[in-house]
Amino acid sequence: MIFRRILLIFMVLGAFGTFSATAQEAPAAPEPATGYQAKQASIGAKMMAVTAHPDATKAAYEVLRRGGTAADAAIAAQMVLGLVEPQSSGIGGGAFILYYDGEKEQLITLDGRETAPANAGGHLFTGHDGKPMGFYEASIGGRAVGTPGVLRALEKLHKWQGNQEWSSLFEPAITLAEQGFIVSERTQKILLKERPRFSVDTEAKIYFYPDTVTPLKAGSLKRNPDYAISLRKIVNEGVDVFYKGALAQNIVEKVREDKGLLSIEDLSGYKAKERRAICRPYRGYKVCTMGEPTSGGLTLLMILGMLEKYDLRAMGAKDPKAWHIISEASRLAFADRNQYMADVDFVKTPNTLLVNPDYLKNRAALIDENKAMTTIEHGVPPNWTPHNQAADSKTKNTGTTHMSIADIHGNVLSMTSSIENAFGSRMMVDGFLLNNQLTDFSFKPVDENGLPVANRVQGGKRPRSSMTPVIIFSPDGQPFLTLGSAGGSRIIGYVLQRIIAVIDWNMDLQAALDMPNILHRGKKLEVEKSGLEFAEPLKNLGHPVLVGEMNSGLTAIQFKNGQIIGASDPRRDGVAMGE
Ligand code: GLU
Repeated sequence: MIFRRILLIFMVLGAFGTFSATAQEAPAAPEPATGYQAKQASIGAKMMAVTAHPDATKAAYEVLRRGGTAADAAIAAQMVLGLVEPQSSGIGGGAFILYYDGEKEQLITLDGRETAPANAGGHLFTGHDGKPMGFYEASIGGRAVGTPGVLRALEKLHKWQGNQEWSSLFEPAITLAEQGFIVSERTQKILLKERPRFSVDTEAKIYFYPDTVTPLKAGSLKRNPDYAISLRKIVNEGVDVFYKGALAQNIVEKVREDKGLLSIEDLSGYKAKERRAICRPYRGYKVCTMGEPTSGGLTLLMILGMLEKYDLRAMGAKDPKAWHIISEASRLAFADRNQYMADVDFVKTPNTLLVNPDYLKNRAALIDENKAMTTIEHGVPPNWTPHNQAADSKTKNTGTTHMSIADIHGNVLSMTSSIENAFGSRMMVDGFLLNNQLTDFSFKPVDENGLPVANRVQGGKRPRSSMTPVIIFSPDGQPFLTLGSAGGSRIIGYVLQRIIAVIDWNMDLQAALDMPNILHRGKKLEVEKSGLEFAEPLKNLGHPVLVGEMNSGLTAIQFKNGQIIGASDPRRDGVAMGE
């Protein structure tokens, strides 16, 4: 076993400030950056688990060691994450899972995304003045809580792919919840900034600020007996207790205490959906990811498709021109994302027409290698009849976690799990937090021309996501790389950059995760402080450049020369453990 962790905490520079929020959009980093901890990759030959927290990685690793599958390990990790990384994910949230069954050589995707209450409509987030609400007005309290999907998705995954007893997978979390876990520095740092937002729900406030003032202290032992009881109920009575039984009752009651619309029927009717993975070649590799309702996968594949004609390898990672071209391709893809992508069960979207090779070729032809385009419009893919969709350019945030797992059976899992904002709705019930995922919908049902927005709120619909779980296969068809990240709509850029770093620039996996984040979501070219050297040259190419903190949350596994290499993001607490 290799489990090394070197801690080098750098104080975040004050000089650049964080990215700012625009009106009615989520602030750029509600799960704020909390420093940098240098990480070392873990190298194994048989198995690997990488999650955003050491306790969750350990839980997953123990499952793998006793012969459990990646599915089993993910369940154990998720139950622990909901306890020890409560700001990011939990059973009160949603997830997307990409799973490669090594024996059948089949890829499965599961959509455990939250759904809107049946009686929610386009004006859910319209304020008293008739205008879209501010982000926190919308997200704190019951209004933005969607039906959680994580448990239904994991239940399904376990039925298909688990080989360990369901109950055994809950044990590490139950033990930690009963005996106590060590509060992380990251959690404390976020809580220090968050107190004013714990305004609605006393249960959450007292849990995180026991005297209503002082946040949980890093390094202290914290117990969560209510969470242990909830997990025991789920083990003893099945997942139905969460969707139809006592826990469902408590969720509905809590959400309705403060502006929420969720009903027992919403919960009892929830289904995790199996969807078809979407895949596209890139430089001989096959990149597979999740389709809508996340925009992450499609947008990623569009960008890669446009980049394929450029010799990024020859340019190298130090050439601002490479970043310029990546940014321009990203701008083009984001214009389409904002216009079209949504829950395909509710609105007709172009979906995979957007990755049609001719269409991407035409879009890429708009890129000028020497100068940023002045304006960008969304395109019209072939065979797509423009209809009543309209633009929604809201950008999103971060209360999310990604895990990458490979087991001894040859299975690979890539799962991004989220409660949306840091600590979600800031409402807690029975020891777990409830999401605010409905703020991923457009706050405006129609655009300035009165046309319906594709990602408008509709009862039962899933809000558009940016989560981008990825599994890449090498030319011989074997798993080559799996990765994903937290980070709202920046997830797409974070993941894209690492794919390019590994495939085009041949970088070691950990070095790829460590490198400065540089990305474009359509408005500005964003550069992490550690990549400051790129700011000036990119400005000179015509980009508005924003330098600041970028709180990615990547985890990744690479299969290389018989080794299984696990790497985690230095910007978060995660670790890799394998053997
Ligand atoms: N709610 C966001 C989404 O689904 C994720 C938030 C995050 O990454 O933190 O895209």
